[in-house]
Amino acid sequence: MAFDSTRPLGFATRAIHHGYNPADNANALTPPLHLSSTFAFPTAEEGGALFAGETEGHVYSRISNPTVALLESRIADLEGAEAGLCTGSGMGAISATMWTLLKPGDEIITDQTLYGCTFAFMRDGLSRFGITITHVDVRDPENLRGAISDKTRIVYFESPANPNMRLVDIRAVSSIAHEHDTLVVVDNTYASPMLTRPLTLGADFVLHSATKYLGGHGDLVAGAVCGRADAIHEIRMVGVKDMTGSVMAPFNAMLVMRGLKTLQLRMARHCESGMKVAEWLEAQPGVSVVHYPGLVSHPQHELAKRQMDGFGGMVAFELEGGYEAGLAMMNRLRLIRRAVSLGDAETLIQHPASMTHSTYSPDERRAHGISEGLVRLSVGLEDVTDLIEDLAGALGTNDR
Ligand SMILES: *Cc1c(COP(=O)(O)O)cnc(C)c1O
Repeated sequence: MAFDSTRPLGFATRAIHHGYNPADNANALTPPLHLSSTFAFPTAEEGGALFAGETEGHVYSRISNPTVALLESRIADLEGAEAGLCTGSGMGAISATMWTLLKPGDEIITDQTLYGCTFAFMRDGLSRFGITITHVDVRDPENLRGAISDKTRIVYFESPANPNMRLVDIRAVSSIAHEHDTLVVVDNTYASPMLTRPLTLGADFVLHSATKYLGGHGDLVAGAVCGRADAIHEIRMVGVKDMTGSVMAPFNAMLVMRGLKTLQLRMARHCESGMKVAEWLEAQPGVSVVHYPGLVSHPQHELAKRQMDGFGGMVAFELEGGYEAGLAMMNRLRLIRRAVSLGDAETLIQHPASMTHSTYSPDERRAHGISEGLVRLSVGLEDVTDLIEDLAGALGTNDR
């Protein structure tokens, strides 16, 4: 970049500028959209050299694309990673990473709470290929010691976890895993790199559903994985190019870059409103529990203060009337949208047991700490007074 700062640039500045100089692109303020499936070789020999890995450049957009590459370098920079790789979806990032790192006979240890499709991918996908999945409550990192073996290739978790907002001490878990030469993979979708940077705490890979906070506008499905350059190159050449084909379209890369420009602004608002909604909910009669890491009542509030630069916009809660009361409340909302996904400008509400986490059996949900009555709220960017009024109407606390 032409601008030369003597100190590291701030998060918002990097989210807007990293890796791009208008002077390289006809002075266009906005990076160009390279809608090209393939890239012409100046000579046959130069094409051969690209394939042999002797020179660097773009060959075919299932491997790399200049627009996507800019986004990859931006997300990697925000995560403090050497390299990044974007994929067609969050599940694309998760599956491409797992198929690349694992082989039959390997074992993976995951936290008990995982996003529903991640849980199903491991239970129904990876396990069919001779990989053992063990679920351990890694909220207590010491539990890992008893479970880890010389077959354990990966420790995998989300922090905060979807949907119940459990946290994992990334530094403590990484240090135990590394004593056993085990890789640590963290799904950082809920926090975004603005609130938590797992690689700086010792993790080896960080994954995202870029559909959520990174994109931020509910208009695309996308994913990303960041880590060491050699490992990311392998995931690109094996997990994405040959195994899943889960590539990000260049147009979606443009949209995610547009979203990233306001990540810091949006996240600050999500955090502010998330805290207000969580505190308000906790004070309502009929609400039995609120799961939000910013609340003093959250069992891991101290860890949240240490590990997160803000508590985010995701709030989960339960009503005294359980499942039925939760569904009835959702149906009375007028402004808050009943929809899965999260991290959008619009506030979204959903019921994990019948929606995002219906991939778990009821027994599995019970064993993994996902209660049937849990309602998950993604607090959006609207005026928080309007959100609270809508919730009050739906909870019936208006007319008390
Ligand atoms: C949504 C989500 C995913 C899957 O991402 P897609 O972009 O929908 O494929 C993975 N992990 C978490 C925590 C999610 O919320």
